[in-house]
Amino acid sequence: MTVREIRAVWRGLAVLAGCVAGALLVWATTGFEQELPDKGFVLRYEKPAAADREERRFLQDRGLPESTLADLNAYVDLPYRVTVVARSCSGEGTAYDQAERQIDLCYDDLAEEREAFEHAESPHPDEDLAEVVRETLHHEAGHALRDALDLPEEDDRAEEDAADRFAQLMLLRGHPEGEDTLLTAARAYDLAAAADPTPDPADEHAPPATRAESHRCAVHGHAPSRHPELATPARTHCTATWTAARDAWTRDLTPLLRR
Ligand SMILES: [Zn+2]
Repeated sequence: MTVREIRAVWRGLAVLAGCVAGALLVWATTGFEQELPDKGFVLRYEKPAAADREERRFLQDRGLPESTLADLNAYVDLPYRVTVVARSCSGEGTAYDQAERQIDLCYDDLAEEREAFEHAESPHPDEDLAEVVRETLHHEAGHALRDALDLPEEDDRAEEDAADRFAQLMLLRGHPEGEDTLLTAARAYDLAAAADPTPDPADEHAPPATRAESHRCAVHGHAPSRHPELATPARTHCTATWTAARDAWTRDLTPLLRR
C-alpha cells in the first residue's frame, strides 16, 4: 500500500469515527436510557407535554444542557451517573433529587422565565433565558456534587447558598461570558423580587434580591476592573468574599477534580 493510499484509508477511518461519535451523541440525547454512560453528568430528554414543545426545541437547538454538562464533565470526574432529565414537570420546578441522583430540568420553568424578561421589555428574552438555564443547571450540579463529595449536611439555606457559589465558581473559571451569565441570572432574581416583594419564608433559598447581590458581588470580586459599574462602597469586601468562596469549593472538590 502506498503512503497516499494509507493516508486515504486513515482519513476514511477518521470520518467514520466522527460519524460514530455523532451518532452516539444523538443516541445519548434521544432517550435510550439503558445505554447511558454509567459515570458523569448525563443528559436525557423526555417527550414534552404539548404546551412545552417549543421549550424542548429551544434547549436542543441551542445545545444548552449539552454544553453545560460538557463543561461540568471536563472539570469534575463524578464517580457515578447523575442524570439531567429535561422534562415537563407540571409546575414542580427544576431541582436535584438526591435519592434518584437526578436533576429535573423543567420545560415549563423556561416559559415562565422568558415571560418575566418579556414583561420587563428585555430586547433579547431568548438570550437572557439561555443564560438563566446555564446558571440554573450549574446550581443544581452544585447540589449533586455536595452529595457526591459527601460533604457535611448543612441547613437548607446553607446548602442553597453553597449551590449558588458553585454556579459562580463554574461560570467564572475560564469563560469570560460566564460573567454575563451570572449578571443575567442576577437580573432574573431582580425581576422575581420586584414581582413578589415579600419573600416566601418557607423557601429554602435566600430571597431573590440576596441571590442577585451574591452573583454581582462574585462578578465584581472576580474582575473588578471589567465591571466598574458594580464598584460600590458596599462591595469593597467582594474580592475577599469571592476568593474565599472559590477556594473553599475548589478545596472541597479536590477528590473529583480532573486537573
Ligand atoms: Zn437549589
